[in-house]
Amino acid sequence: MSRYGRDVPENTSATHPLALAPVTAPESSADAFVADFLHSLNFDRGVALSASSANDRYFALAHTVRDYLMARWLEDLRRQKQSQSKGVCYLSAEYLLGRQLDNNLLAGGLADIAEEALASCGISLDDLRQHEVEPGLGNGGLGRLAACFIDSLATLGVPSIGYGIRYEYGIFRQTFVEGQQVEQPDSWLSLGSPWEFARPEDAQTIAFGGRTETYDDEGVTRSRWVPGWNVQAVPYNYMVPGFQNGRVNTLRLWSAVATNAFDLRIFNSGDYEEAVRAQTFAENISKVLYPEDSTPQGKELRLQQQYFFVAASIHDFLDNMLAEGFDLSALPDRVIFQLNDTHPVIAVPEFMRVLVDEKKMEWDAAWAITRQCFAYTCHTLLPEALEVWPVDLLGRLLPRHLEIIYRINEEFLDAVRARYGDDEMRIRNMSIIAEHPVRSVRMAYLATVAGARVNGVAELHSQLLRDKVLGDFDDFFPEKFTNVTNGVTPRRFLRLANPELSGLITEAIGDGWLTDLERLRELEPFAEDSGFRAAFGEVKAANKRRLHEVLRARDGFEVSDGHLLDVMVKRLHEYKRQMLKVLHVVSTYEGVVSGRVPAAEVQPRTVIFGAKAAPGYTMAKRIIHLINAVGSVVNSDPRLDGRLTVIFPPNYDVTLAERVIPAADLSEQISLAGKEASGTGNMKFALNGALTIGTDDGANVEIRELVGDENFFLFGMSEPEVSESAARGYRPSEFYQEDAGLRAAIDLIASGAFSRGDRSVFEPIVSNLLYEDRFMVLADYASYIAAQERVDDAYADQEAWTRSAILNVARTGFFSSDRSIRDYIDRIWHTPPLA
Ligand SMILES: *Cc1c(COP(=O)(O)O)cnc(C)c1O
Repeated sequence: MSRYGRDVPENTSATHPLALAPVTAPESSADAFVADFLHSLNFDRGVALSASSANDRYFALAHTVRDYLMARWLEDLRRQKQSQSKGVCYLSAEYLLGRQLDNNLLAGGLADIAEEALASCGISLDDLRQHEVEPGLGNGGLGRLAACFIDSLATLGVPSIGYGIRYEYGIFRQTFVEGQQVEQPDSWLSLGSPWEFARPEDAQTIAFGGRTETYDDEGVTRSRWVPGWNVQAVPYNYMVPGFQNGRVNTLRLWSAVATNAFDLRIFNSGDYEEAVRAQTFAENISKVLYPEDSTPQGKELRLQQQYFFVAASIHDFLDNMLAEGFDLSALPDRVIFQLNDTHPVIAVPEFMRVLVDEKKMEWDAAWAITRQCFAYTCHTLLPEALEVWPVDLLGRLLPRHLEIIYRINEEFLDAVRARYGDDEMRIRNMSIIAEHPVRSVRMAYLATVAGARVNGVAELHSQLLRDKVLGDFDDFFPEKFTNVTNGVTPRRFLRLANPELSGLITEAIGDGWLTDLERLRELEPFAEDSGFRAAFGEVKAANKRRLHEVLRARDGFEVSDGHLLDVMVKRLHEYKRQMLKVLHVVSTYEGVVSGRVPAAEVQPRTVIFGAKAAPGYTMAKRIIHLINAVGSVVNSDPRLDGRLTVIFPPNYDVTLAERVIPAADLSEQISLAGKEASGTGNMKFALNGALTIGTDDGANVEIRELVGDENFFLFGMSEPEVSESAARGYRPSEFYQEDAGLRAAIDLIASGAFSRGDRSVFEPIVSNLLYEDRFMVLADYASYIAAQERVDDAYADQEAWTRSAILNVARTGFFSSDRSIRDYIDRIWHTPPLA
């Protein structure tokens, strides 16, 4: 330390880098990194190293990494604007990013330098890693997909920008109190975020409410919107670095701020409450992520959020990204807005409003442009998850947009009539406006009518969209429909989450797989190499030990060695069928305690659950309670001889996923066939060498085709069998009557064995299973138990199991999100490759 208290690195003459520092630090730059780190600590944080907190050090490190990426970011922003080539605006209400530090170190090629530099200051990089709070700006798969996609877009160098919402509170933090979920607010910003750049000078004003009117514009009658109130949308930029390719894209998230931050007149008159009321109202818009997954909530605030971020994004693009004097009729050659589910679909009428009302374009010309500038990704098959907005609400909040939607619908229905005649049934079924139970706008239909392309997210899902959910639309516009199977980024979910396996793979086949995941195929011959199998088994064992340490430190769980690690982590939803997994656990337990099965014959297993339930989803919360209750009974019953353990670490998030998945032996993907759109958890597990037990649903179908039937535990009804069974009239109680094992398991739950004898606690679960069972848990139970017996047998032969695990890794390179993005480019975006 110098005599002024400022930290001066030893042995270095490095000065603080200007904005044009190289993106990948030259080899000998650990010293320079130290200098930059200390500079940031002193001048950004205002502390000396000796007095700094872990948070200070984490921030200084993050700022140092940021600075190294900065020059490339500024360069990419400039180039994207200058080239004016076609780019992608990815519109998503959710981005479930996970921690940023490691990803940015990896992308910048800075990990080793940073580690060495920090070590020379006596700081452990790993300690600082643990300090980062992940931004949980998404619920589950949909938000995580958006995060994988922006990673791949940057790595492939596609000109693109991600747009979304900077929620002040992300997905809630889950805790358990007596086994029941309790939600805590996720104040991820309370210590600040070192990765964001506020850009108040780029704020947009977003209007709401009011009325519409017509006026005479030099002989032409035009409409305009006279809004009632407005808010400011302030953008925050985040760097999205490509993997060691010198490219940095942008994620731009909007935050709501009141326009008249405080009304001095009211304030001076002494009415402080009234003065802040308007401000609070406006700022609520980006306050909290809706903790919903697959079921929309008809909340006005949610529609406000949706319009807020897409309107800001469209205006941002038109104002800031287009060249001076840009001819708007060329927009389809300049941009494609990808709609991640229906949440951003209100962008369609907003775009029309801008073109027609503000830019004074003819309706037909504007519609021709709009129809080429949007594409829609559907993420569901559950009818209740298709978003609708009551016209009352929409008309009150966005009156001009409702008029535009009506006109789009009229013209569309005219075209339907022209094709099919007055087939009123068909017209009613295809109308963007539903009449029952309340007059509403069907956002999926609006997106389908407006979108140049409509895609599902796995082969089966896209087929079911065409056959069922959007069948009439497929008949009318067959050319619109396509598939893009989801993927996950191999950087985060293999390289960062599983460094040991990554090292082993690279040792065997080189490191080309990181950007060309199909090259994992080259591992296939190694499945026959006993030395490689031993090394692979050692990696899995090391990952289990690492997970044990994490779970012990995080939640105080003790995990036994030598167990098959059986993992079901994903949102809690009845269609995903966590109940089926619970019934398997209860059956195993019941078999032993009833004396039918000697404990010594039970394959030692640890079952790990991870799942958040939407706070308003009562049945999902009951199932969480049941899992914890079963766990506490099973884990402490000496008759099991420690051979069955159920653990449920709270608050499943990306950080936990990165620890659990590499350690798993068995991946549970057990949704009712025809209900899971794709799944991406299934892909992460297979890539990390877990074998899947799964139904023929979503992307499981493609996983099984690729890995081969002999390396996958298939069970359950197929989608056509599910449909047939539903059509015949499904009676779950028949399965209960006919299967003694199933009956014993359900009876044990009903008896109060997991609720201290209180039969009422889980009665709603039991009666739901027996008399409703919408997702046919009981129908698939026997098949599932049989498949689990095959799992036990297979696990007994460790050599064969490891061979299968290696083949799972080798054959699932298809599931890279890089491949998904290439498919989007070929099938939907047609963005030219970059120089
Ligand atoms: C991948 C992922 C999901 C999606 O899991 P599915 O099994 O596909 O539903 C959800 N949450 C987190 C944290 C994830 O990483």
